[in-house]
Amino acid sequence: MFLIFGLKTAIRELPGRMATCRFCGQFAHHHLQQRATKFTLFFVPLFTTSKSYTIRCTHCGGPSSITTRQKNALAS
Ligand SMILES: [Zn+2]
Repeated sequence: MFLIFGLKTAIRELPGRMATCRFCGQFAHHHLQQRATKFTLFFVPLFTTSKSYTIRCTHCGGPSSITTRQKNALAS
């Protein structure tokens, strides 16, 4: 018997919002992206091992990593 397991990264676009960019200082729309790493067994995702969020300025493209808590604060 053998097992095929591994990790898979899934990227999901979330609704962004208007914010002041910390790189260019412009008040511009920011894209919010969720990156989730999932444990897979026989290529079937079973559970999420880690999640991270990145916001990216649409004006200059400057990316910032944010925590789940900061992401939740953005959503409300
Ligand atoms: Zn910017």
